[in-house]
Amino acid sequence: MENNMEIKIKALLENVAVVRVAISTFISSLDITIDDLMDIKTAISEAVTNSIEHGYDGILTEDSKVVVRAYLTSQEEDVIKVEIEDLGVGIEDIELATTPAYTSKPELEHAGMGFTIMETFMDEVFIDSKKDEGTIITLTKRIRKKKSKIV
Ligand code: ATP
Ligand code: MG
Repeated sequence: MENNMEIKIKALLENVAVVRVAISTFISSLDITIDDLMDIKTAISEAVTNSIEHGYDGILTEDSKVVVRAYLTSQEEDVIKVEIEDLGVGIEDIELATTPAYTSKPELEHAGMGFTIMETFMDEVFIDSKKDEGTIITLTKRIRKKKSKIV
């Protein structure tokens, strides 16, 4: 099945749950394991949380939004691609930002593990970011079909 959706949230942490519910519903038609579903939700939550906590840090206004676009395609296997976009401060040094355990906010109990979690749970993580313009994270996962039932 081919399908897509787009949701736009105000950059508030309570809206991460809105994205999680929307994504779960969006992919519920797929023959997907609970493990894969949890992995996708966790990875997307990390990216959305980053946009809110880092992208709009100190510059939050009425217009500060995070846009999540999800695309489903299926040929031999189902593939979900999700873009998480903010118009925040951007990432100056992507290599540093993606280093496991690196955080620009150690004082706030961040573990610096968001990108590592995204990379572990998804097949591809692509980062497009410009300082003072914003960030688009593209997460892709190929869906392993559940084992077929015995008939
Ligand atoms: P944790 O995710 O464990 O709470 P963290 O958010 O600091 O900690 P990562 O998610 O791996 O760790 O992100 C690493 C760093 O990349 C952040 O500390 C921040 O400096 C930068 N970063 C990540 N996403 C964005 C974004 N959307 N806009 C600006 N900077 C970002
Ligand atoms: Mg993070």
